[in-house]
Amino acid sequence: AIAIAKSYSIASIPADGIGPEVVNAAISVLKALSETLGTFDIEFKHYDWSSETYKKTGKYIPDGGLESLRKHDAILFGAVGAPDVPDHISLWGLRLAICQPFQQYANVRPTKVFRGTQSPLRNCKTGDLDWGGRSHRGQAWETATEVAMFTRHAVERIMRFAFQTAQSRPRKLLTVVTKSNAQRNGMVLWDEVAAEVAEEFPDVTTDKMLVDAMTCRMVLKPESLDTIVATNLQADILSDLAAALAGSIGIAPTSNLDPSRQNPSMFEPIHGSAFDITGKGVANPVATFWTSSEMLAWLGEEDASKKLLDAVERVCEKGIVTADLGGVAKTEDVTNAVIEEIKESF
Ligand code: ATP
Ligand code: MG
Repeated sequence: AIAIAKSYSIASIPADGIGPEVVNAAISVLKALSETLGTFDIEFKHYDWSSETYKKTGKYIPDGGLESLRKHDAILFGAVGAPDVPDHISLWGLRLAICQPFQQYANVRPTKVFRGTQSPLRNCKTGDLDWGGRSHRGQAWETATEVAMFTRHAVERIMRFAFQTAQSRPRKLLTVVTKSNAQRNGMVLWDEVAAEVAEEFPDVTTDKMLVDAMTCRMVLKPESLDTIVATNLQADILSDLAAALAGSIGIAPTSNLDPSRQNPSMFEPIHGSAFDITGKGVANPVATFWTSSEMLAWLGEEDASKKLLDAVERVCEKGIVTADLGGVAKTEDVTNAVIEEIKESF
């Protein structure tokens, strides 16, 4: 029999600041992985959507843009945001303008301390905890009130996704984070739905935390956590904390998943466009490598996914890391080292 490698078409949207630097680095790594393993083909179509095009045309996404995106198997995203465009315009203009119509309601942010890197916490062992999801809901901002609306449907689907994630992991432990003592409607619904969905997953241990207490627990006892689920806002804050605890925001990835698989899912680093270091060649590409590894796993390329992350970790172990992790390597050095590691090891 002739083995035919699967072929994937990926949309790349590098966008702003260091976005193009880290996305290009990830594309070379993914191409090297595909060539070396020979188990899958991967091709990229580049979408030049950014704050620059917004300033010229008044639009982040041109007419028909979403329809073109929809044809791809996945989207690799860089970062959006420019010093002369208000953050809420750029975020909603590009990133959320893709997440929402594509129903990417599960935002998954895994975190761990890489071998060879250091957490600011004393005695923090290498290990991983897995980030649950958060759901996107519409928000009103024409007035000074922020109205968060939770529907049972949306809470249930993110909760079920979180329980499934926890169930797939060895510890089968889910921490449900809310603030139901102060936010006595929406957050209470979260608690209720969590308790109901928990009954469908008798093998998963559930524990409940208020978000304020959770920040302390993440710093003092991170090893007591595994999968965490929280709302959009709370999870956004906790995942920045998690990234810092793991050593740097420069390594943390995000998957914006449509679990129904009707639309392509989107993979990106957690960090932003980082204009303070743009063009200097010092951006840490590891977050984008890790998100590329998550993308491969989502596409069903589990083996390639593991190999990619392993190669990245071995490069960190050798001390080939950028300044944010205390090293002297440049983006290009880390990228070349990962490519070499792939070619030599696999
Ligand atoms: P956004 O609003 O898009 O999240 P931001 O300005 O809040 O953007 P970042 O752009 O992520 O946040 O930058 C925060 C800090 O982290 C900056 O000092 C930046 O240089 C640093 N940083 C972010 N990403 C990286 C990276 N990949 N490598 C090294 N440093 C990074
Ligand atoms: Mg930010």
